[in-house]
Amino acid sequence: MKLYFYNSLTRKKEKFNSIKPGEAGLYTCGPTVYNYAHIGNLRTYIFEDVLKRVLIYNGYRVKHVMNITDVGHLSGDRDMGEDKMEKGARREGRTAWEIAEFYTRAFKSDIARLNIIEPDIWVKATDTIDDQIALIKTLEEKGYSYRTGDGIYFDTSKFKDYTRLSHQNIESLWEGARVEKNPEKRNSTDFALWKFSPEGVRRQMEWNSPWGTGFPGWHIECSAMSMKYLGEQLDIHCGGSDHIDVHHTNEIAQSEAATGKNFFNFWMHGAFLIIAGGKKMAKSEDNFLTLHNAFVKKGINPLVYRFAAFQTHYRKPMEYSEESIQASRNGLQHLQNQVRQAAQNSAGQKGAVIDEYKTKFLEAINDDLNMPRAMAVVQEMLKSRIGDADKHATIIDYDRVLGLSLDTVDQAEELPEKIKILVAERQAARNAKDWAASDRLRDTIQDLGYQVQDTKEGMQVIKT
Ligand SMILES: [Zn+2]
Repeated sequence: MKLYFYNSLTRKKEKFNSIKPGEAGLYTCGPTVYNYAHIGNLRTYIFEDVLKRVLIYNGYRVKHVMNITDVGHLSGDRDMGEDKMEKGARREGRTAWEIAEFYTRAFKSDIARLNIIEPDIWVKATDTIDDQIALIKTLEEKGYSYRTGDGIYFDTSKFKDYTRLSHQNIESLWEGARVEKNPEKRNSTDFALWKFSPEGVRRQMEWNSPWGTGFPGWHIECSAMSMKYLGEQLDIHCGGSDHIDVHHTNEIAQSEAATGKNFFNFWMHGAFLIIAGGKKMAKSEDNFLTLHNAFVKKGINPLVYRFAAFQTHYRKPMEYSEESIQASRNGLQHLQNQVRQAAQNSAGQKGAVIDEYKTKFLEAINDDLNMPRAMAVVQEMLKSRIGDADKHATIIDYDRVLGLSLDTVDQAEELPEKIKILVAERQAARNAKDWAASDRLRDTIQDLGYQVQDTKEGMQVIKT
């Protein structure tokens, strides 16, 4: 069946064709590891995971690359401000390298809890400094770069069609930026390829280069890594919609200037998460919700968030509120009950995936990942008159895209002895109203990979 995605480049839904038949190259911008990912960031990774699963469901072999930004992402716009990594290091009294290591692990644990399939290739910015320097050299040789007091910059006026992705008007961008903080920049849209370490300052992360000691600009890493690992398979590049105007626009400019070839064919962007009341979730705002504090700590299965993300199309802002999460919690529980029921009713009988419903599901997901429609098909199928064994087989097939671990809901799981003891201890603490001990034990159980939920029927412990 044909597959359509909305392409930010053309602002249209287009039929997807990969460069190599049957194989799809996917590049997704990864986290800047100076802090936890907030659930707004995680929404983007869920959307990208659905995209990847839809490609796989359609028979593509997917090669997925994700970067880890562990240097060079500055706190201010337009190459001003401090490196987020060094700032994080100061905040926590650790080295930038330790910060990167810690938050990379936290990120990987978050995506595992959300059943997000890991990329085939993880790349750290600090592991590809040589590739980034080589790319900057090419840009220099081709006359796209110039030197200022604080670094090497890309001259955006030399690149034709700089605003092809953002669809902005370049003249108005230039005029609009009257207050330019860096007077040495030729155009307000120019961006740093390489920044020099400040005079007299020894940065924790710095490298020698043909231009002087320093570190790469943020955008160059994604160009260098995607071309290094995907080479001729530059099919789909994704990220949050906040990347369109600057980060992805700059990636296109520097990559195409260097190679003279078309960079990615498809650019797909996920919309924001809005906190009820209309605020966008951002690390710099005070409404900083992580998977841990908004879900795990409250005893809510993180897959509830994955389920919640399916209720809104990825290109529309998703509203987050306690009520919407409660509704999704009920929704997921209901779905798990339906699946469990179908499994019990079919009593070991093996069913078949029903073509009619497979087609309906495909029509929804292949129409630019229309998950709200796909979830309606799920309910339509489960409430239909087809037999329970077939229902079960069909929903387990859908779960290759949904990723809600529906294949495990009907297995009553035997807990390991160690967990059973901790659960009994926690129950005793709760009976004694020792909430501090209860919380501590819950954290210990969770650290061992089990989810604790306090429900009306008592404590429920599920493997995560
Ligand atoms: Zn990127």
